[in-house]
Amino acid sequence: MTDSTTTRTISNLQNKIDQGDVVILTAREICDRVRAGDIIEMSNIDVVTTATSALMSGTYAVLSFKVAQPDIFKKAKRVWINSVPAQVGPCPNERIGLLDLIILGTQKSTTDPRYGGGDLFRELVLGKKVDVKIETDEGKILTATTTLKQIPHAMLHASRNAFKNYLAFVNPGKSEVSTIFHSDMMKGDYEEMTFCGCGELNPLENDPELKTIGIGTRVLINGALGYVTGAGTRSSAEKPNLTGIADMHQMNPELMGGFTTGHGPDVITTWAVAIPVLDKQMLTHILKTDDQIPLTVVDVRTRQPIDEITYGHVWDRTNDAVTFNGDACQKCDLCRVESICPVGAIHKGFEKGMQVNPSKCFHCGLCVSKCQGEAFGAKLGIIKLKNHRVPITLRQSNRVAALKAAEDLKQQLKNGQFKLTEPVGKIIFPE
Ligand code: SF4
Ligand code: SF4
Repeated sequence: MTDSTTTRTISNLQNKIDQGDVVILTAREICDRVRAGDIIEMSNIDVVTTATSALMSGTYAVLSFKVAQPDIFKKAKRVWINSVPAQVGPCPNERIGLLDLIILGTQKSTTDPRYGGGDLFRELVLGKKVDVKIETDEGKILTATTTLKQIPHAMLHASRNAFKNYLAFVNPGKSEVSTIFHSDMMKGDYEEMTFCGCGELNPLENDPELKTIGIGTRVLINGALGYVTGAGTRSSAEKPNLTGIADMHQMNPELMGGFTTGHGPDVITTWAVAIPVLDKQMLTHILKTDDQIPLTVVDVRTRQPIDEITYGHVWDRTNDAVTFNGDACQKCDLCRVESICPVGAIHKGFEKGMQVNPSKCFHCGLCVSKCQGEAFGAKLGIIKLKNHRVPITLRQSNRVAALKAAEDLKQQLKNGQFKLTEPVGKIIFPE
């Protein structure tokens, strides 16, 4: 435990960790203590581990690997991996049989509208073999297969990740709409709500003044050691987000993947960030629980605000996890959830009806309202909005994964596998 009279710095907190004399709690643990009525002082906490797991569209991979002997082709003009189109370059790599590629997490496969870059990233991290198709500048088609092990450079980049929470969405119109904020058509007349954001667990919510998060801050991205590189695109002081980078070879497939929205494939990414508690001002942010963190409800068609609620409305007294009871599956002729599950976690089992792949499930909750039986269970919450009682039907953030990421980071800090770092530069978000 740190003496409350000592000026805290990131390096003296790391020294404390090295000596085993430190209090590290996840953001969930410290908020649970607040909810239980505990008074938390500086002397009660040294480091908080925070996390967020959500659809993060600004995630892309840079891959560089050999596919052929030199001089088999001069230049690749177009490339697809598992039918997902890649951007060739930035390096042309003439005649050496090497591909340099950028693949967007939101890029749709040319053969399967429900498969995209995010699904490909997960399959690579799982160690699966992937198909590579190359169209050369001379019009020849070459094919190859590869695995992540055979791709020496595979870095995941974030251009807009880990937003300081986000928004909730309703459709006040009469007609249903197709949107990236739903995986089915979104019903009108306030019939349902979707939202994104991990509330009190979110890294930027816990260090909004960026006293410890900066350029060069060490983080975990999908469980792999990574670094913050700056302010994300569309950042503002009010709604900031981060850019970052991490090596795909070290990633955990359970914290990443694809997610199909009404507009096609999107990508799931998980960040975990350790926040050293340097002063009382930081502690006031860390002690904020979901019910003190605003969540703006907007019209999904226009993004105009409709109401202000809090993350307490969507996460308190609801279940983080969605459960599946195979015995309650009615073995319908046409399973409505198999085709709608945004991550493809539901499939037919032998004789026993449907089955769920728990390592793939994002706990979005969509199956709860779509299942014709009662095979899926979770309290997702009902929000009162302008004389409507609006049920939440889909969550685009996964607190089960975020909690796992925050807990993993806590353990890595404790056992010395992960070290706190001083940022090498300040991040300034535009006003
Ligand atoms: S809709 Fe529900 S009850 Fe019917 S087959 Fe699918 S999981 Fe089973
Ligand atoms: S909660 Fe249901 S719909 Fe959502 S990912 Fe899991 S199984 Fe699929």
